[in-house]
Amino acid sequence: MTDHRDDIDVIDSIQADDDAPTVWRKLGEGHVLRNLYPDGQRPLEPDIGLVDELVRTLDARLPLGVVMSVCVEAATALPLLLETARHSPVAAELGDAVARGQRLASVATTDVGLAGSALDAMNTSLTHEDDGGSVLRGAKEWITGALHASHIIVLTKDRPERGILGFSWSLVPVERDGMTRWPSTTSFPGSGLGDMSFDDVAIATDEIIGRRGRGLLDLALLVANERLVMSIWARALGRRVLVDTIEYLAGRSTGHAKLWDNPAIRARVAECVVDWRQLDALCRNEVVSPGDPRSRMVLKVAAAGTVRRIVGTCTDLRGAEPLRDGGLAELGAEAAMFGILGGTSGALLAGIADAATELLADRT
Ligand SMILES: Cc1cc2nc3c(=O)[nH]c(=O)nc-3n(C[C@H](O)[C@H](O)[C@H](O)COP(=O)(O)OP(=O)(O)OC[C@H]3O[C@@H](n4cnc5c(N)ncnc54)[C@H](O)[C@@H]3O)c2cc1C
Repeated sequence: MTDHRDDIDVIDSIQADDDAPTVWRKLGEGHVLRNLYPDGQRPLEPDIGLVDELVRTLDARLPLGVVMSVCVEAATALPLLLETARHSPVAAELGDAVARGQRLASVATTDVGLAGSALDAMNTSLTHEDDGGSVLRGAKEWITGALHASHIIVLTKDRPERGILGFSWSLVPVERDGMTRWPSTTSFPGSGLGDMSFDDVAIATDEIIGRRGRGLLDLALLVANERLVMSIWARALGRRVLVDTIEYLAGRSTGHAKLWDNPAIRARVAECVVDWRQLDALCRNEVVSPGDPRSRMVLKVAAAGTVRRIVGTCTDLRGAEPLRDGGLAELGAEAAMFGILGGTSGALLAGIADAATELLADRT
């Protein structure tokens, strides 16, 4: 078991009014970002114990948008840069700055005008020119942290004839001519969610990072990381909401008793506790047998459902109180993203059905 005492001290320095770039800087300067991916492990898998320490504190102290920004970038941009650094000096330089907390980068895969799961049909393209340079054209949307980032790592289709092997990553500095970004929404304050367009953006050869043509394969690893981190965060959020709700119910007077004394209310909370324990067991299973992409799909769908049911039930049990500004009702609307980011539950269920026989195989 790794000793995370130094990391925990750094994480504990995060304050409730820190914005996402400040949180990232503190985590980078304190080496927590680097420690998330222990050296030598390939493919890069996050240290689950450290992720848990991190998300529990972030979730307890910060708005959901800020936590989302840190979690998504730690699960995607950071490992992508660390991994591609082996083949690309430009990625190595940026990856080092990102891991030290000096810069932020976002990963953009979702094309405008196309279902998020249909990446193979994407229109964002990289065209190779005779002079050796390349030109990026297209548009991406809902990119977490895009408004804070110094660079966007863009998934492009650059060789359509090569099918799944026709995709690459381009590293685009946000001030590059032809690149424009703007907020996606006023929801998720602090997340830096942005949409963007690329109008004939010039890309140098060394800005095409990673193994040429293997962008979709790299993405599969990132998405597995993202599903794990989001699920561990979902576990922390579900526990926090349940603990707060039990405390609320225990203090809510009905004149002669408290709401928590009512058996019907207790039974509804108990069902949520069972739900939470099932998610907890799935998360613990990732420590025992990490890295199976099929298990990550199951974990992510379970996490999204557990958060939805816990937040929904707790909102209901707390009457009008969740409707106050910043209350549980707002959290419930934003927490819908657990069923979207890293693959919608619908798309993942399609993958789980494909893998049903293997998932049901006896593993005792
Ligand atoms: C808060 C937030 C943050 C995000 N951050 C990022 C980011 O940092 N980078 C990035 O690239 N993208 C990001 N996204 C985009 C996200 O990845 C996509 O929204 C997601 O992939 C879903 O795509 P969609 O919205 O086009 O929905 P669609 O794919 O159009 O889905 C619509 C409905 O169809 C169902 N469905 C879709 N495909 C299937 C299928 N194969 N089988 C069964 N049902 C299916 C879905 O379950 C859903 O109910 C973010 C989105 C949100 C909301």
